[in-house]
Amino acid sequence: MKVGFIGLGIMGSRMAANLIKSGIDVTVYNRDRSKTEPLSDLGASVANDLQSCVQGCDIVITMLTTPEVVMEVAFREDGFITALSANTLWIDCSTLDPSSSQQIARMAAEQGVNFLDAPVAGTKQPAENGELVFFVGGKAAYVEKASPLLDIMGKKTIHLGDNGKGAAMKMLINLMLAQSMLAFSETVSLGKAMGLPVDKVHGVLLNTPVTAPFLQNIQQKIETKETSANFPLKWMQKDLQLAAKAAYEYEAPMPLANLTKELFAQAKIEGKGDEDFSSIYHMINDYIN
Ligand code: NAP
Repeated sequence: MKVGFIGLGIMGSRMAANLIKSGIDVTVYNRDRSKTEPLSDLGASVANDLQSCVQGCDIVITMLTTPEVVMEVAFREDGFITALSANTLWIDCSTLDPSSSQQIARMAAEQGVNFLDAPVAGTKQPAENGELVFFVGGKAAYVEKASPLLDIMGKKTIHLGDNGKGAAMKMLINLMLAQSMLAFSETVSLGKAMGLPVDKVHGVLLNTPVTAPFLQNIQQKIETKETSANFPLKWMQKDLQLAAKAAYEYEAPMPLANLTKELFAQAKIEGKGDEDFSSIYHMINDYIN
């Protein structure tokens, strides 16, 4: 099986590395070519352009950023879609909104290309360990074809239905993630304002069932003010923006999500976009001495 992999950022570089280490024949492409070097060292072929990355591939995987970027990379004049053979499977693992994924699936089908939306839960370390969870939308036959690769990059694949349903499920995860992060940050700030020692507030809250378990994994990051990105804050803000779009399209009022979205927008404007999404904690807590 020949695989083309496009987008070697925090997540894509690690996902592609696991495929290569498992002996899959992978050709990689990244806009910033320097990021292809570690993968070339592992044995990947490196393409100079999108079209040569996917030529002769059975499966193409994209791990990009926004709906606009995924569309551009696939469908612009020198994009990869026209270089794919009929019935090639395209697995998009970027976090998009459901209607964008559905539109991309339709545009791919017009070119004879089969499409799965397959965004992931899990950040840098799970990506490195091959422990991601894939939420997949698309035809069951395509999921079956994708499974050997998804099983290398992840520990679980959940097929949720037609195109867009994988994107929909992933959106729910990130809504909970953002809101829990913010609720914890604000709660701690009141504890600080009331004169409680922050280490004790953390210690108590993180060991009660009211606190989301993922916060234990980032406790050290918060306490040491280590802000390097596992999951860049700008992508969390993007996901909240996409959730607000979906809420409008599907007519679901989302007051808390929209407030959360604007606080992440503020953090991005304050220069935290390339920091980890957990940096929102510092924005909220820096108001309190
Ligand atoms: P990232 O490190 O910022 O990587 C983004 C990738 O997209 C890079 O390869 C970048 O290329 C490429 N790209 C961006 N704009 C492009 C353009 N106009 N043309 C061509 N390539 C372009 O992002 P990431 O953290 O890996 O996240 C990737 C996706 O997964 C996002 O949708 C994110 O929301 C989602 N996600 C992230 C995490 C996480 O914890 N990080 C977890 C789950 C899901 P360059 O290197 O040339 O910039």
